[in-house]
Amino acid sequence: MDIDTKIARVKELIAKREELDAELQELFAGSLKERRAPKCSNCGDAGHRASACPSKQAVAVQ
Ligand SMILES: [Zn+2]
Repeated sequence: MDIDTKIARVKELIAKREELDAELQELFAGSLKERRAPKCSNCGDAGHRASACPSKQAVAVQ
């Protein structure tokens, strides 16, 4: 197996893993709360994302 084949295989496996992770996350999320409800990874509040987090903006301003 040459290096290009290995790299192609690695990319293929990573893509599959990401696909599986996304599906697993969706399954777990769906059983716990509303599907695709945004949750902030910065402050943990639902309703906004970390990129729009008021706490993060407040920190950034200071
Ligand atoms: Zn937040």
